[in-house]
Amino acid sequence: MHSALNNFYYFGICHYCKSTSAELRRCSACKVVAYCSRDHQKLDWHNHRELCKVITFTLVNDEILTNSFEDWVSYRLTIQQKWISLLKRRLQPFECQMWMFPRVCNWCYTKLNLTDCPKCYNAAYCSNEHCISDQVIHKKYCNALKLCMNIDCYLTKFKSYPEVDTKLVISLPELPQDMNELLSRLYLCTEKNGESDIWKSLVSDALCPGSVISYAIQESSCNYTFNHKCVIHLVGAATAEATADWILTSELLLHTFNDINEVLFILIGPEALDMCENFDLCDCCKWKGKKVSLKVYKALYHDVVEMIEKPNMVVALNCGLHEFEERNCDEWYSSIPFMLLPETPFVFTSYTHEEMLKDIKYIKRIIPDVESHIVVSHNNPFASLRPIRDWCTKDIPIFYSNAFITIIKMTFSF
Ligand SMILES: [Zn+2]
Ligand SMILES: [Zn+2]
Ligand SMILES: [Zn+2]
Ligand SMILES: [Zn+2]
Ligand SMILES: [Zn+2]
Repeated sequence: MHSALNNFYYFGICHYCKSTSAELRRCSACKVVAYCSRDHQKLDWHNHRELCKVITFTLVNDEILTNSFEDWVSYRLTIQQKWISLLKRRLQPFECQMWMFPRVCNWCYTKLNLTDCPKCYNAAYCSNEHCISDQVIHKKYCNALKLCMNIDCYLTKFKSYPEVDTKLVISLPELPQDMNELLSRLYLCTEKNGESDIWKSLVSDALCPGSVISYAIQESSCNYTFNHKCVIHLVGAATAEATADWILTSELLLHTFNDINEVLFILIGPEALDMCENFDLCDCCKWKGKKVSLKVYKALYHDVVEMIEKPNMVVALNCGLHEFEERNCDEWYSSIPFMLLPETPFVFTSYTHEEMLKDIKYIKRIIPDVESHIVVSHNNPFASLRPIRDWCTKDIPIFYSNAFITIIKMTFSF
């Protein structure tokens, strides 16, 4: 049952069919998963049995006596470690979500006497009092939490992102102001499967890398001199680059910047995934002789950079530079000097404002006067609109990919 698209967990839906229902029955042993019917519980049992034992062993009668968020974070990390050591294997994504987002009171973290938020099924409360105490914060995120769940359910049902007609993208006269404007132009004339919020979230996700690159070209007056060819290095490429729609990305670039004749995307990173490298461009682009190609290097940037074509722009999406410093396994440190070339914009995105500041501080270790080379550093107008659940940030249960953008452009080598 747990295919790649069905690999998620929410405490408020049937763990087997992912339907929402007011009358869920929880597994009496672990109380973590719930089912809409006895049938679905039976059908899921052979999948759930192994983990159920482990959860029961670690969770039951283990009432959390804290209402500090920091303790709640470390409590869950302990649970994660216990599960890994008992299962003797890595946890699957849905299993991780079980320790990250368990059903506890959203205010005091107790597991007793809970009632779910009837709107999102993603928050629970032990009492009316705690529900009221949490309202100011929860009201801001209730819809996004529900959307998060609806998107996962949508993908289970339809198995893929909604398709966007390339014709709509190529008819854009210029790069719109922001993601919302881009989507509303595409949305008006598109066949939709279900809700518009789901459509917008997923399409924004697919268009995100392309629109970030287009926006960065526009804001940094990037030069693509030689034969009007634009070479873009995507460093630290991983899953976001794999789910991006590269045909839409290419068309968006070629039609918003008429003077680009050729685009070469080079994806570099130890986690980069192999991808199709041939793009069938629109008739107009074909007629003009425009070309787009994509190469993937499964390697660290500084190991391959000398062998590949020089970039006109270097891009690192959701790179989390600062995390590497904290974890002390610093692969970026050796790569960064290669990314900061004279007159070549280095573009990176961060999930939050705080992370953006930490990322800039990280680069400051290598280039002490980095601030004087920053062209752009603010909210990204082309951030993804797909909400992602956050388990470890107090009062902010949702974040978005590429939410903040920084562009650095050095005028000289250092
Ligand atoms: Zn069910
Ligand atoms: Zn169970
Ligand atoms: Zn409570
Ligand atoms: Zn809610
Ligand atoms: Zn075209």
